[in-house]
Amino acid sequence: MSLDQGGHLTHGANVNFSGNLYNIEAYGVNAETERIDMKEIARLAEQYRPKLIVVGATAYPRHFDFAAWRQVADSVGAYLLADIAHIAGLIAGGVHPDPAPYADVITTTTHKTLRGPRGAMIMCRAEYADKIDRAVFPGLQGGPFLHTIAARAVAFKEASEPDFKVYQAQIVKNAKALAARLIENGFRLVSGGTDNHLMLMDLTSKYEKLSGRQAADHLEDAGIIVNKNTIPFDKRKPRTTSGLRLGTPMITTRGMKEDEMVQVADFITETLENRQKAAIKRQVREKVKELCAQFPIYEYLE
Ligand SMILES: *Cc1c(COP(=O)(O)O)cnc(C)c1O
Repeated sequence: MSLDQGGHLTHGANVNFSGNLYNIEAYGVNAETERIDMKEIARLAEQYRPKLIVVGATAYPRHFDFAAWRQVADSVGAYLLADIAHIAGLIAGGVHPDPAPYADVITTTTHKTLRGPRGAMIMCRAEYADKIDRAVFPGLQGGPFLHTIAARAVAFKEASEPDFKVYQAQIVKNAKALAARLIENGFRLVSGGTDNHLMLMDLTSKYEKLSGRQAADHLEDAGIIVNKNTIPFDKRKPRTTSGLRLGTPMITTRGMKEDEMVQVADFITETLENRQKAAIKRQVREKVKELCAQFPIYEYLE
């Protein structure tokens, strides 16, 4: 998936090694629905006859239909790799379709929705294990990351417990609540909402002159950290952007629920509406502090 439509750098962007080593043909979203169109994917596969198809994204608010991707891969005899870095926790928690029955190889990070330490995993069918192991060592790396192995074990233990399902389901409920309130407040979201843990705000729908970078800075003034992000068919450059990417995993860990999402959406709106008024941004900052104090991070650790 191309970088400017939600894909990851490592999926063949020309500034990344993947784009240099491999001959990549990118796909994107449908201009109208802003969703992946499987008919278009099938057409591209037929046109380019790839050896490997990579499915996965870093800024895509909808589900992946892995069964449909498998069908496309089979139609051209390609391997299917699912990069679930962003959604691994949702999959483990049962709130996103699971690629395991369909993909030949699954890659993930351990530090996003899986909520573990920084790290990564490659899962594959037994027949590819030797080759992949050798590609990792000695192909790419030397020693293992011993200092994060215990932390990974803790993360996997947590991810296998019933509480994790509750957590992941709440992440999705919170994302839907946050999205609904932002829409109520007049923002347009890419694809009209979210099915997962993240959403993309299209700032151009409300403020013609405000870039994602500027909006992120204003929100930081108010104590709210977001990620500037391109939106599909963005007219601005990747360093400026017309969008913001928001996710709910962290605030859900703190114990916030749907009611608090309404507050968060209103804080964001109030800040952006009054972005030139330092006093108002300071007021929002105080309200953010109060809300965070009501949901301290250490309660989770106790
Ligand atoms: C985050 C991410 C990665 C890996 O990112 P790092 O944090 O840089 O290791 C790979 N693929 C996707 C789709 C991602 O979102």
